[in-house]
Amino acid sequence: MCDELRVNPLLITMDYELRKEEYKVQKKFQQKKKFCKFCADKVAFIDYKDIRLLKNYTTERGKILPRRMTGTCARHQRELTTAIKRARNIALLAFVEK
Ligand SMILES: [Zn+2]
Repeated sequence: MCDELRVNPLLITMDYELRKEEYKVQKKFQQKKKFCKFCADKVAFIDYKDIRLLKNYTTERGKILPRRMTGTCARHQRELTTAIKRARNIALLAFVEK
């Protein structure tokens, strides 16, 4: 057999440990970011008059934050956008902030 192809088993385990650590870090980061706050609080209806809450889901320039950034579920994101749009319409929130 070809001896040159044989790799030091210690190196393999080291690499494996490193990957495991990397994976752990990744998982932690993702878990920290992704969960729907409305589902956690069991919110059935998102109040469009609650500006402080809505502001958490908009950028500083007034745009609605995408779901992939906030971790909000599809159902609540839909309700959130309607709430934000309503709030804008009655001038509780700005359409654009400079
Ligand atoms: Zn939800």
